[in-house]
Amino acid sequence: MKVSLASALGTCFGVKDAISLAMAPEFAGDLTIVGQLVHNPQVNVSLKQNGVDLVNGIEHIDKIKTKKVMITAHGAAEKTKQKLYEAGFVVYDASCPLVMRVHKTVKDMVARGYFPIVIGQENHVEVKGIVGDLEDYVVINSEEDLEKIRDTGKKKFGIVSQTTQQVEKIESLAKAIEEMDCVEEVHFVNTICQPTRDRQIAVRELADTVDLMIVIGGYNSSNTKKLVQVCEEKSVSVFHIESSSQLEESWFKDRKHVGITAGTSTPEYLINEIHEDILTIAKKMESLETETV
Ligand code: SF4
Repeated sequence: MKVSLASALGTCFGVKDAISLAMAPEFAGDLTIVGQLVHNPQVNVSLKQNGVDLVNGIEHIDKIKTKKVMITAHGAAEKTKQKLYEAGFVVYDASCPLVMRVHKTVKDMVARGYFPIVIGQENHVEVKGIVGDLEDYVVINSEEDLEKIRDTGKKKFGIVSQTTQQVEKIESLAKAIEEMDCVEEVHFVNTICQPTRDRQIAVRELADTVDLMIVIGGYNSSNTKKLVQVCEEKSVSVFHIESSSQLEESWFKDRKHVGITAGTSTPEYLINEIHEDILTIAKKMESLETETV
């Protein structure tokens, strides 16, 4: 059984930078992260072990006991940051520059008279940050949501996307919006970030050559779930796991080639650990086959 890693996988620079900032020794015991820094359970456990507190969002501001707070890589609305400053916190901003590019793009569109449409998950922290300073907007996530656009009564629309969406989905939804009879003008900027695109391209290429894919990442990680979707679209068998303890030997029986990928919030040590465990299973399978022959 051959085992291959995707040519692009795992933690992106935005997540790496945010984790390094949160783990800095000077913050130990005096930092609260507002919202999940990354959607990965193991990273959150390490942060807690390092004395970092976590609250789910700005609505839990009354539970913050530290002087220092951190905005996550997913970004936050200016209003949210303002609220934290006004409450007297020292605010460290780990917003990824590629998320901030989406905030700027959508605000520029509004200033130029376009009604903003964000393609993504309405309840995702990144999307809440993107729309948090806008007076009016629409968030759509599928063709079923297109009627929300008609309901605005507007004709000129600006479209951006959550950074971790799937490229083909965003392009097809933008095209569907352009073709709506109520729409006169569309300005579409595809704001999916490059690390997300690289991981989607790499998983697509690898999925064509394997008979099983293992996708590693948090169950609540948007971009990890998109990698799983790409494998499903390719009709290759796929298992989504968060830790090596979830691996089952039976998945690998009679497989010739197994691929591994991981979302942008999955730490490198975890990928290495799972890779090693799969290589061990591969050796075991080979020796069993030899014994049978
Ligand atoms: S997934 Fe993209 S936007 Fe999000 S933190 Fe990583 S590089 Fe930045």
